[in-house]
Amino acid sequence: PASTNVSELLATAHWAALAHSQQRRKSGAQPAYIQHPLHVASLLAAPASSLHPDPPLEVLQAAILHDTVEDTHVTEQDLLERFGPVVTRIVLECSDDKDLNKEQRKQAQIDSAPHKSDQAKHVKLADKLSNLTDLMSPEGRPAGWSVKRIQEYFIWAKRVTDGCVDVNPGLGAQLDEIYRSATFEH
Ligand code: NDP
Ligand code: ZN
Repeated sequence: PASTNVSELLATAHWAALAHSQQRRKSGAQPAYIQHPLHVASLLAAPASSLHPDPPLEVLQAAILHDTVEDTHVTEQDLLERFGPVVTRIVLECSDDKDLNKEQRKQAQIDSAPHKSDQAKHVKLADKLSNLTDLMSPEGRPAGWSVKRIQEYFIWAKRVTDGCVDVNPGLGAQLDEIYRSATFEH
């Protein structure tokens, strides 16, 4: 029932907030890290997403948890015990392989995107939409990023989202608007 889903979703948000509690985003004001995973989940549930009006609970949970394995002490086993195999598999699909260097990770995201599950594609699209939205505003941008670096990020992100966009044209339209209007004030 809906009330069970709401309860489980809020418990997931609380769990992720604790996992990310020592971390901050790279934006100038260094906001709490959890704002980004919550933004990713809310983009997936919003009216402009193709998952609206009935986004699957596991996809929203995976969105909230998508950076825990990559960026915190949380392990695959922790996720399995608390959230089960489906959510865990989606989060792992959205986590970079730490044995690769940064350049290889960026290429791996491009190469693997079209082969991911639909659930992971939804999360990847919303993740990039959230990061690109931050990069669009001077306050949201990581301090010290040059215009060239931001432009390179947009070009790379588009190569990743092009491989996922089939599952969620609603998010695709929002990404297109960003790619189209991405001229930076500097
Ligand atoms: P990334 O490009 O990986 O940093 C971006 C990532 O940081 C995002 O994907 C996001 O990941 C996270 N993030 C945190 N806060 C923000 C925010 N406010 N806005 C947007 N994203 C945010 O940087 P790395 O430090 O890993 O650098 C690796 C790559 O950067 C190199 O391979 C190179 O290609 C490039 N680079 C380019 C330079 C240039 O001047 N052109 C200079 C140096 C590096 P998440 O969703 O996981 O949090
Ligand atoms: Zn993310």
